[in-house]
Amino acid sequence: MRLICKSGDLMENHSKKIIEYFTNLDRSKFMAYNKEFAKYDSAFSIGYGQTISQPSLVLEMTLLLDLKPDFKILEIGTGSGYQTALLSPFVKSVYTVERIKELHDEAVKRLNILNYINIYFKLGDGSFGWEEFAPYDRIIVTAACSVIPKELLDQLKNGGKMVIPLGTAIMQKLTVVEKDKNGEIKLNQIENVQFVRLIGKYD
Ligand code: SAH
Repeated sequence: MRLICKSGDLMENHSKKIIEYFTNLDRSKFMAYNKEFAKYDSAFSIGYGQTISQPSLVLEMTLLLDLKPDFKILEIGTGSGYQTALLSPFVKSVYTVERIKELHDEAVKRLNILNYINIYFKLGDGSFGWEEFAPYDRIIVTAACSVIPKELLDQLKNGGKMVIPLGTAIMQKLTVVEKDKNGEIKLNQIENVQFVRLIGKYD
């Protein structure tokens, strides 16, 4: 009982640090347009038909991942790099994949200028994950999927978790996918969300 309380306290402390970092993270640095709206809890265009997600959802998805300092994370949909920047300080490394070259290039430049050093970038279809560095402790997908890409499930460690919006182009359920130590999969649907589509092998 005491142990459970202790680890609960630790977890709460860890979440507090993430919330504190999130609160101080200047979102306008990740926006090329609409910078004056950065403080609003809404999604905004980042060009190329894509959006930077609303901050509260970025924080929620980060907390759902239950991060630990030695974790290796795979993120699909780098976009502006805002979500990537929130993950980076709390894990060992973040591998992030974006399919639009201009967004990829901007995010690489931006996150380098901001001195994030444990982020690895790839340009390509993230439906295939990033096999070379698999398996991952956690996977986060920031674009809407009609199904869970098999490649992503395969690249998730046993005991790992994936946070992914699953559904139609119009509405998705934010879903936590847990892979237990035997490789069994369990889904937990959290709430309705709206993301741009994951374009590629499974669209
Ligand atoms: N997390 C981002 C949100 C980006 S929106 C942020 O905080 O800014 C979703 C992103 O997923 C877009 O940049 C889009 O280009 C990208 N995307 C869509 N399909 C993809 C795919 N198959 N592989 C990699 N990225 C993809």
